[in-house]
Amino acid sequence: MNATIATATEIQKMDPVFGQISFDDHEQIVFCNDKDTGLKAIIGIHNSVMGPALGGTRMFNYSNEWEALNDVLRLSRGMTFKSAITGLNIGGGKAVIIGDAKTQKTPELMRKFGEFVHSLSGRYITAEDVGMETADMDIVRDVTPYVTGISEERGGAGNPSPVTAFGVYMGMKAAAKQQFGSDVLTGKKVLVQGIGHVGAYLVDHLVAEGALVTITDINETALQNLSAKHGVAVVAPDKIYDVDMDIYAPCALGATVNDDTLSRLNCSVIAGAANNQLKDESTHGQILMQKGIIYAPDFALNAGGVINCFSEVEGLSLEWAKQKAEEIYTTIDRILLRSQQEGIPSYQVANQMAEERIQTKGSLNI
Ligand code: NAD
Repeated sequence: MNATIATATEIQKMDPVFGQISFDDHEQIVFCNDKDTGLKAIIGIHNSVMGPALGGTRMFNYSNEWEALNDVLRLSRGMTFKSAITGLNIGGGKAVIIGDAKTQKTPELMRKFGEFVHSLSGRYITAEDVGMETADMDIVRDVTPYVTGISEERGGAGNPSPVTAFGVYMGMKAAAKQQFGSDVLTGKKVLVQGIGHVGAYLVDHLVAEGALVTITDINETALQNLSAKHGVAVVAPDKIYDVDMDIYAPCALGATVNDDTLSRLNCSVIAGAANNQLKDESTHGQILMQKGIIYAPDFALNAGGVINCFSEVEGLSLEWAKQKAEEIYTTIDRILLRSQQEGIPSYQVANQMAEERIQTKGSLNI
């Protein structure tokens, strides 16, 4: 090994927090520990220039603390960019709880977590993410007002998925316009990968417009139900590369656009709800552009979820949230136009646009 060049792992050991790649000037990182309930959580506040940091809590059985720390930093930074590009006056943050949500989540643990959130006096507002349910947010609400995604009975905005799906649909239309010269999806072949909370609502919109939809999922019952409802085609998860499609809508997992899939996917537009679709942003973003595939950056496209949470924080109506999600069309349109004019990948343009908004707001100091 070269004695003068430290590896990423060695740098992490020397500077385990500030030296993390995703640290990216985080404002505050809070480590929460409670012996009695077994709570071990990390709250990341990335940037509060646009407002208090808003972002969900993920409970996951991380294999080690580095993984948990890296995840919270990466996700919290992502929230700053998502809210900024969407034009929301709210900052970016996220929390992770280390543990198995199925076996280790207790009301006491959630209440203690809520107390830690409350101790930040509103600098961080939490919400649901992987491993969390509305009922958990209701428990957090018992000890702090700094939480969204609570049940409608308790004044919350309810399930964000319909708003997310509507935003994805609108953004997909803008991407189609860029690639095909028209935003009409009638007759367009769309493959929806993952028909969970968001994917199923997205299929509703697509079918209503007359798109030729194919669905795939690992959940066979869900596939049968949705296929029976809409008469859409079904394909096995590993057979999607044989499907001739105009639009690929990843709505299940991240990193599905990678070295392996890029040469096999038969599509000219990628627009879906999943987070972190590009396995390696810079490499795969560049390849997509070279191949002439239009990519609608995921964090701009799936912002309906954060729009829904923001509406709850601000006491705005569902109508407002839907209208804001409709604006995702314009956001994607602007990103793709600038990408084409400047010859740089769309994900990079989206990052730049988000940074520009934060800088403008920061320099105005309002
Ligand atoms: P979900 O868990 O309800 O649905 C995911 C679906 O994907 C499930 O039906 C699951 O069976 C399926 N799936 C899992 N592995 C698969 C595979 N290998 N091939 C095909 N299907 C597979 O999740 P969701 O709430 O619908 O969210 C979907 C994606 O959108 C996630 O990546 C999520 O992070 C992102 N997202 C969701 C929201 C929201 O409002 N729910 C907001 C922003 C982003």
